[in-house]
Amino acid sequence: MSISERINHITSTFPETVKLIAVSKTHPAVAVQEAYDGGQRIFGENKVQEMAEKYDLLPKDIQWHLIGHLQTNKVKYIAPFVAMIHSIDSIKLLKEVDKRAKQNDRVIDCLLQVYIADEETKFGLLPSETRELLVSDEFATLKNVRIVGLMAMATFTEDLSQIEREFASLKKLFEELSSSIEHSEQWQPKEISMGMSSDYELAIKHGSTLVRIGSSIFGARDYGQA
Ligand SMILES: *Cc1c(COP(=O)(O)O)cnc(C)c1O
Repeated sequence: MSISERINHITSTFPETVKLIAVSKTHPAVAVQEAYDGGQRIFGENKVQEMAEKYDLLPKDIQWHLIGHLQTNKVKYIAPFVAMIHSIDSIKLLKEVDKRAKQNDRVIDCLLQVYIADEETKFGLLPSETRELLVSDEFATLKNVRIVGLMAMATFTEDLSQIEREFASLKKLFEELSSSIEHSEQWQPKEISMGMSSDYELAIKHGSTLVRIGSSIFGARDYGQA
């Protein structure tokens, strides 16, 4: 199957509430162009430099989603064009995004990354920290960011019942925060970013609205010797 055929195959089963983020990290711009030519417009990258390079090369109506860990000192490179940042894991990072968005005369959509996995290596806010950030006075002063939902990565495991529990917990947290914290210009919860190639069907079952799929579309990643 071609890249576009794989995308069509995957998205043909999606409910209307779900959008595909085609995760193009490590794959060349020509692969992104091929998916674009088939109609795909949302792409995900996990590294700032790689995303900025592809942004320069590719059509400007692509919506670039940053899905990987973001360092404060790199926000400036993507602030002019990034469509959504999925990996906000501190108020410090959010303040930097706000500052750079303001310099570019934009409001940047963001997701708070929540730590739901049973692993040491995953980034993210604890559920309690997620709430604290959203109700903080500091957050209320940030006018150039908009939190539109939550993102999480499940544990890397074969145990589907564990993954399912983790997805259900993110959905529950989303519902709780959405119903208990008054919506505002900066807090407009509508997206739940969860699910990858191996578990997106489970994620959709538990309310995901943004699934991040890489290898099932573009093939396996080769990180090479670099
Ligand atoms: C790479 C990546 C994905 C896509 O993973 P696949 O297993 O290739 O679908 C999804 N989310 C994040 C945060 C990633 O870094």
